[in-house]
Amino acid sequence: MSSSTPKVLIVGAGFFGLTIAERIASNFDIEVTIVEKRNHIGGNAYSYINSDTNIEVHKYGSHLFHTSNELVWKYVNRFSNFTNYQHQVWTSYQGKVYSLPINLHTMNTFFDKNFKPIEAKEFIQNQIFKEGNLTPTNFEEKAISLIGRTLYDAFIKEYTHKQWNVDPKKLDQSIISRLPVRYDYNNRYFSDKYEGLPLNGYAELFSKMIESNKIKILLETDFFDIRKDLNPDILTIYTGPIDKYFDYSYGGLTWRTLDFQLEILDIEDYQGTSVMNFADLEIPYTRIHEFQHLHPERKKSIKRTIISKEFSRFSEVGDDPYYPINQAKDREILKRYRYALSKERNVLFGGRLGTYQYLDMHMAIASALSMYENQIRPLFKKFI
Ligand code: FAD
Ligand code: UDP
Repeated sequence: MSSSTPKVLIVGAGFFGLTIAERIASNFDIEVTIVEKRNHIGGNAYSYINSDTNIEVHKYGSHLFHTSNELVWKYVNRFSNFTNYQHQVWTSYQGKVYSLPINLHTMNTFFDKNFKPIEAKEFIQNQIFKEGNLTPTNFEEKAISLIGRTLYDAFIKEYTHKQWNVDPKKLDQSIISRLPVRYDYNNRYFSDKYEGLPLNGYAELFSKMIESNKIKILLETDFFDIRKDLNPDILTIYTGPIDKYFDYSYGGLTWRTLDFQLEILDIEDYQGTSVMNFADLEIPYTRIHEFQHLHPERKKSIKRTIISKEFSRFSEVGDDPYYPINQAKDREILKRYRYALSKERNVLFGGRLGTYQYLDMHMAIASALSMYENQIRPLFKKFI
């Protein structure tokens, strides 16, 4: 490679960073370096095989792949085959288990009825009508406009308090719009056209994405430790937190972080499903993941299982931020950072942390593919 060949630095080896690296290395004779502060690639979608049990553990909580985007589905299938796993979630409320997302089965068991779809619709519509608010402007109003106050109080209110610890009137309604409400017995958690898990695990998929020898990965390397020594002409794709990049000069954006408590248990099956939510406030965790259920096609030879309890709290300095809280004050701060980034030379911001957006994996990949096509490829065309 000649000395005039451009070099690219990618900060963060999550789906966004890996997709950009893969696209550049597959199409150009250009060297790509990825710096990742953790000791592994894959970002929050990382998983590993626990050697005692042979169970694939999703370190940062179960990551279910789902998309209706043909391009993204074709793209990920180049690196791995996928199982036909379809996610279902159950929720425990006052000691009883109900089906999610809220569907006819949830309604009938909760209200002790045998409603047909049309009867359930009428019943819930009456509840919604009593509230009298037809134009919701926040999370709470939106949720009540979808399911009425009784179901909201049982399944959403306290869970949301544990997850966000923010007045639900101050949360954005898009958060609850993620969950469908169904008047039939369909209890698939996602409604996308394609769904599944990497057949041999996420690790194989990630390593296939970066198998080109033009891609170099530096693990346990924090961008902020090497930033001052970088050549200002290097093109940087930054997928870390946007506020940190600007040294919090307009203030810190608010995020939630998570703690996971892993337990290996000497029993065959702990909860009978991959994810159980806990709706009651007095149970301190939001959900329990039991990873063996994500791969029912894998044969298990020993009677042990692995569970992970998920606890949510405000992210403080030194924590890994996970969920943007995105209140009005955050949106004001974000506007100022967006303006600041438009003035930056040779830096592009992407991914969940770099854009302060609640992105699923398929959305992170779609947005990386689009950044590559629209902003990166045109820059490098002459190096083909
Ligand atoms: P990340 O995966 O967060 O990667 C960013 C990387 O940048 C990290 O590895 C980080 O260590 C690194 N980094 C940050 N700062 C620096 C720095 N200064 N120097 C070097 N490296 C740095 N999506 C789904 O589609 N399905 C799911 O079921 C699902 N479940 C989820 C469950 C949880 C608990 C969470 C938190 C998220 C879930 N997601 C899910 C979302 C999914 O994790 C994201 O879509 C995906 O991780 C986004 O990829 P990314 O590359 O933008 O960010
Ligand atoms: N939610 C809830 N009860 C549940 C599941 C979800 O109140 O049992 C609310 C909660 O506010 C959550 C949001 O719906 O943050 C979106 O749920 P989802 O399962 O998509 O959250 P994620 O998997 O992204 O944490």
